[in-house]
Amino acid sequence: MNILLVGSGGREHALAWQLAQSPSCAKLYAAPGNPGIELHAECVPIAADDLDGLIAFVRAHAIDFVVVGPEAPLVAGLADRLRETGIPVFGPNAAAARLEGSKGFTKDLCARAGIPTAGYVRCTSAEEALAVLEGFAIPVVIKADGLAAGKGVIIAETREEAEAAIADMFDGAFGSAGAEVVIEEFMTGEEASFFALADGTDVIAFGSAQDHKRVGDGDVGPNTGGMGAYSPAPVLTAELESAVMDRIIRPTVATLAAEGTPYVGVLFAGLMLTNEGPKLIEYNCRFGDPECQVLMMRFKGDFAALLHAAATGTIATADTPAFSHDYALTVVMAANGYPGTPEKGGAIRRIADAEAGGVRVFHAGTAREDRTLVAAGGRVLNVTATGKSVTQAQARAYAAVDKLDFPTGFCRRDIGWREVAREAKK
Ligand code: AMP
Repeated sequence: MNILLVGSGGREHALAWQLAQSPSCAKLYAAPGNPGIELHAECVPIAADDLDGLIAFVRAHAIDFVVVGPEAPLVAGLADRLRETGIPVFGPNAAAARLEGSKGFTKDLCARAGIPTAGYVRCTSAEEALAVLEGFAIPVVIKADGLAAGKGVIIAETREEAEAAIADMFDGAFGSAGAEVVIEEFMTGEEASFFALADGTDVIAFGSAQDHKRVGDGDVGPNTGGMGAYSPAPVLTAELESAVMDRIIRPTVATLAAEGTPYVGVLFAGLMLTNEGPKLIEYNCRFGDPECQVLMMRFKGDFAALLHAAATGTIATADTPAFSHDYALTVVMAANGYPGTPEKGGAIRRIADAEAGGVRVFHAGTAREDRTLVAAGGRVLNVTATGKSVTQAQARAYAAVDKLDFPTGFCRRDIGWREVAREAKK
């Protein structure tokens, strides 16, 4: 197959690395790609949100299959347009991508399908939201309905904070994403990420991970896109995974299919492991970044063939995904200033040294200036290692971080801390 991968982050570098190794992949293109993806694919300068440019490229280059990395082109209808032209695509149509594009849509779907999640009310005006708020205990969660780059969720510890969040959202703090607001009951428990691949009708499990959203060690400071992850997440036992498939994932896929908006692609469920069992926090319609990097590090098999089976309605008869039994752990190297205003242009050297001994350094936000690799985004590199335990994978990842020469970058030093602490007690 000639395959086009859409996207340019660390997630797409990890996807490109697996796709390029797949026996069923003849030629891999990436749009727009990045300097790391260039090692595995021919990068073409078409932005991920340039739908017309992508369609024209697919037609002109005999592309057999398209894999979409980020959510924005899916929510904008890229998969619909590719399917209309007869090209198989891994990623949902816009109607099914509302699972990520509208939190209210997902909550209503959970209600219709009996999927365990936090109690909620959708509100379309500040007056309505303030009245509804009175019925909720504190802490309470206030969410902008639409895509807000991971920033549209406020956990309010007081009523005043909740009222201020409601006022801000309806005043346009998150643009049109806040035209509708969802008020949710606060859930307690440990969070985990779970992934499944759906072909419209059937769905198979695709592993678990845990992310670290806060910028600072000990989970303090502002939220980020994710500062590191590991896979699998041992808190999600086989028993819990099967409960998640039965109570959350399968009913979602079945309900969307029955309602005429079948889901094709990866379902990324953010879960809260509560005392009453796993509950859905939210869905994303793409792989997590950086969770994808640790899943790809462990995946074994023909990845392109598996995604193609999902895209063509044959996932039930595809080879069951196989993963290494080792743990994988990735440390995000970010540019100083992230998540506020990251410093751009800092030189990055010694990646080859860091990669010695089976470590992989995925590029998230890099560029080439003359011959030098430089930082070009907030999250810059994902230093990814494996080990027989999370502790061992962590030690290898940080040893690699220490070999890198990236003076304008920083990372958290405690990625994997929950599991490292549990392993120390064993
Ligand atoms: P979301 O973008 O919906 O995943 O929310 C971002 C983060 O907010 C989640 O990863 C949770 O840490 C937290 N969160 C969202 N909804 C709830 C909830 N109902 N109860 C507790 N925490 C939540």
